[in-house]
Amino acid sequence: MEERLDRVLAHLGLGTRKEVGKLIRAGAVRVDGAVVRDRGYKLDPEAARIEVRGEPVRYARHFYVLLHKPAGVLTATRSERETTVLDLLPDALWRDDLRPVGRLDRDTEGLLLLTNHGELLHRLTHPRWKVAKVYFAELASELPEDAARRFAEGVLDFAPAELEALGPRAARVTLYEGKHRQVRRMFAALGAPVAYLRRERFGPLELGGLEPGQARPLRAAEAAALL
Ligand code: URA
Repeated sequence: MEERLDRVLAHLGLGTRKEVGKLIRAGAVRVDGAVVRDRGYKLDPEAARIEVRGEPVRYARHFYVLLHKPAGVLTATRSERETTVLDLLPDALWRDDLRPVGRLDRDTEGLLLLTNHGELLHRLTHPRWKVAKVYFAELASELPEDAARRFAEGVLDFAPAELEALGPRAARVTLYEGKHRQVRRMFAALGAPVAYLRRERFGPLELGGLEPGQARPLRAAEAAALL
């Protein structure tokens, strides 16, 4: 598929569209051996040989972005009225074919993976694969004594989940499915509604030191662990 040269370079992490535009105009970019000064030049990034200041650059078809979703943001690709997770991505990470892998509800914070790798997205969200998701929850009232046992047996019609109490009103929960507002519904069923919720892990991926609103590309080893 053909794409504009400035977008291809921005997706490679070489700068914002404006910065890579300057590189292109300055004659620093060659495509198939010839200098191209037109930032709108169309090329197939998988087939073309691209060099920047004489160095070959490699184009990857699949992109993976880790976002720390803040509260108040919609897990969607576009919305007329609300900020979406795609709106939060800086230019260098933004691609119009990125899709969120699963959902966090508006008020939930934490780790959200975005990718344009459709097959992987399908696999990671399919119940059969039972990807582990770990959440930290603060509760509006005290957890009952038997909370861990009830989660392990399966609350409501949800599959068994692991609960580790971190205090009378805080817990870490591991789920292997991802139904709508599942954590909130499970705690509500115990009579301890969720006051704050953050996803800390998704399969092998961890939030680490990423601050709310920040995003970064996955490291090669992280992407390899998902595939
Ligand atoms: N469970 C919830 O209740 N909300 C989320 O966003 C994710 C899991």
